[in-house]
Amino acid sequence: MLDFTVSHRDGEARRGLLRLRHGEVHTPIFMPVGTYGAVKGMSPSALEEVGAQIILGNTFHLWLRPGTEVIEKFGGLHGFNGWNGPILTDSGGFQVWSLAALRNISEEGVRFASPINGDRLFLTPETSMQIQTALNADVVMIFDECTPYEIKGRIIEKDEAAASMQRSLRWARRSKSAFEALNNNNALFGIVQGGMHEDLRLESAQALDDIGFHGYAIGGLSVGEPKADMQRVLAFTAPRLAPHKPRYLMGVGTPEDVVEGVHQGVDMFDCVMPTRNARNGSLFTGRGDLRLRNARYRDDSSAIDPECRCYCCRNFSRAYVHHLQRVDEMLGAQLATIHNLHFYLDIMRQMREAIEAGCFQRWREDFLKKRAEGV
Ligand SMILES: [Zn+2]
Repeated sequence: MLDFTVSHRDGEARRGLLRLRHGEVHTPIFMPVGTYGAVKGMSPSALEEVGAQIILGNTFHLWLRPGTEVIEKFGGLHGFNGWNGPILTDSGGFQVWSLAALRNISEEGVRFASPINGDRLFLTPETSMQIQTALNADVVMIFDECTPYEIKGRIIEKDEAAASMQRSLRWARRSKSAFEALNNNNALFGIVQGGMHEDLRLESAQALDDIGFHGYAIGGLSVGEPKADMQRVLAFTAPRLAPHKPRYLMGVGTPEDVVEGVHQGVDMFDCVMPTRNARNGSLFTGRGDLRLRNARYRDDSSAIDPECRCYCCRNFSRAYVHHLQRVDEMLGAQLATIHNLHFYLDIMRQMREAIEAGCFQRWREDFLKKRAEGV
């Protein structure tokens, strides 16, 4: 089912091995996001080549299209999308929560109109567990309420954050009961909420630990709060999660955010940033970010990142990928995606090695300094 061991520690940073039903994951790790079951522009073999070990699928989107009854015919998402490694699915809560105008939240669950065809739908902890079981994800996330940072420009009050966190705890208990009733033998992760308040975060983390999950995620960050608040809550929460279970920071973030997360003891990350930015012509390099569509790269014969060993940087120039993106050739988005995902996965590899060697702090300072210097 699931086994997690931490082999090395360097400060709060951890080097570990997560065993899931579809394979092993070396941590810390970044998980590319495959919203509709595919990481945009990336075949499973291309994902393997950039070093992906585990990918993420979105329960909400797969539930609407193609629908769980289709994926069930293939025995789950692995049989459908051809990715043989581990898959983590989110609970659908975050997407439903993002539909602000279309939804109605009650204690039972969330009613909403399908953004595809307007059908009236109802998502609850129980239905989320049924869908994620049908998808046969290696890691299932509990159905929770993502506490917003602000509503219509007003920063939410502490009592609102507390009420939201308490509802998420009740939904966490229902999620676990439903998961067990379905005889699901994959892993189930709890999600710590509590907004920007340390005492609420601690209460949430302790209550989830009492319920008992295979791993713990930090939710409700990178939802519009100032960076300093995110870092404060992360630095408080991550080291307080169960030391022998995997820790996952949801939906975060820039390369600097990911390095900061590892520094605080987080093992798993996901974010659309590397894939989305690639399609928009924003490329990550060890010397800062590069706006590839800028006219200055029109005849630049160097690789996107001369220090990068990805398929794109080994074979193509900035000028060529710039050209492909300017004329909207799909290969332009694909090559940029290969590079950006390789960049994220390669810094994870470098961090794993630095933690093993006991030199993570020096690696971190060096990385941040070079990135800040710019291209
Ligand atoms: Zn590259």
